[in-house]
Amino acid sequence: MTTETLVPVEDALTRYDPVMGLEIHIELNTATKMFCGCPTEFGAEPNTQVCPVCLALPGALPVVNAKAIESAIRIGLALNCEIAEWCRFARKNYFYPDMPKNFQTSQYDEPIAFDGHVDVEVDGESYRIEIERAHMEEDTGKSLHVGGSTGRIHGADFSLVDYNRAGIPLIEIVTRTIEVPGDKAAAVARAYVSYVRDLIGGLGVSDVRMDQGSLRADVNLSLKPRGSATLGTRSETKNVNSFRSVERAVRYEISRHAGILDAGGSVLQETRHFHEDTGTTSSGREKSDADDYRYFPEPDLAPVSPSREWVEELRATLPEPPAVRRTRLQAEWGFSDLEMRDTIGAGALQLVSDTIEAGATPQAARKWWLGEMARRANEQGAELDSLGITPLQVAEIQALIDAGRINDKLARSVFDGVIAGEGTPEEVIVGRQLEVVSDDGALGDAVDRAIAGDPDAAQKIRDGKQAAAGALIGAVMKEMRGQADAGRVRELILEKLT
Ligand SMILES: [Zn+2]
Repeated sequence: MTTETLVPVEDALTRYDPVMGLEIHIELNTATKMFCGCPTEFGAEPNTQVCPVCLALPGALPVVNAKAIESAIRIGLALNCEIAEWCRFARKNYFYPDMPKNFQTSQYDEPIAFDGHVDVEVDGESYRIEIERAHMEEDTGKSLHVGGSTGRIHGADFSLVDYNRAGIPLIEIVTRTIEVPGDKAAAVARAYVSYVRDLIGGLGVSDVRMDQGSLRADVNLSLKPRGSATLGTRSETKNVNSFRSVERAVRYEISRHAGILDAGGSVLQETRHFHEDTGTTSSGREKSDADDYRYFPEPDLAPVSPSREWVEELRATLPEPPAVRRTRLQAEWGFSDLEMRDTIGAGALQLVSDTIEAGATPQAARKWWLGEMARRANEQGAELDSLGITPLQVAEIQALIDAGRINDKLARSVFDGVIAGEGTPEEVIVGRQLEVVSDDGALGDAVDRAIAGDPDAAQKIRDGKQAAAGALIGAVMKEMRGQADAGRVRELILEKLT
């Protein structure tokens, strides 16, 4: 293992400009696979969702899944792409044990969608990302390495292959080179992946879950000396699986490339793996532009030529564009520009929207997701949507606060319980005995004890200084471990002393 000299990003950016390219793989949520009728459900017993076509048995013939073509066209349109009038599948030839055909059916020089763009916002500035192409292909199977301590192939006793995933339809979205001010590069990369997630999630054609692999991002990065027109050699960091990691991978690669270039070395063109725990990348496989996949048109599949009428019909099914939707939601919710920007920046737009849909007020929804939930996500290095709590549950907990059953402080404990799998918010309240006490009998006794324990404060209230009630309320809350209805406690104190 070579030791790498890392240059602090801010320092590197005084001498180099980063050039990025992003590739996003989207797993479509069609009921069946790309070229056969096998189901695509996640989590089935290994090798139970296979047939002669996706196992590539001799003589089996593939047929294109029309629903996958429809989803691909809708994705292309949402990305402002042109839709090909005629395109073909191609064989990408390489050997990999979890790819039974020894080639991947993909698209090469004839993608279904091309020449698009999206605009993403970072710190109030808009950046245009050009889309080179969005093409269709199929997923591979999955290898499981058994034995050894790392779960990787090195050191394993043997390997097993599961072909359930082989043939699941994928869309690969490839950007043109992205050149933005260096200090914005990492944030723009993150904003782009987040934007594509929202865009495609809105189409309903994929689950777009990065933590489950239905959206995967590859980050290509190179550096060129400031002001130079010559591109440097790029590295490809594969399968980065969270927005935060996309940002970290860009920053790490800027530091690493700068270290190599400063020392007069040359960057190796290779794929790299990103490590969530350390925020670093490590070498994968060397790669050159001359990699020869011997692409040729797939002879077993008819070309795809969507009629212009069909394309226009599909265009009419597109939901509101994200920028328009954001403006509309901001007005509906009454958010300030800053509140809206923070919500989008945190990747919480859909979560906040779903929470409001489930009955919470906009400000309550924003408060929980950007406060309590963002803090938890940060501590765990996780994304908001993989915390184990849903917008519906957040809205339910807020409703319990509004009904006076719990207060904000107890709500945090309810969140703990729901995330720990103790059941619904209601079940957690019962299980953990979290309900606030508003029963006058129990509260009255505690108020009497607080008055007896602090005669000075009691006298001040009798003298008309109601502000002194705070000390007595505090004493009652302490005795009741925060589970008293503070408003009712205050009323009881004033009733007894005035
Ligand atoms: Zn099959």
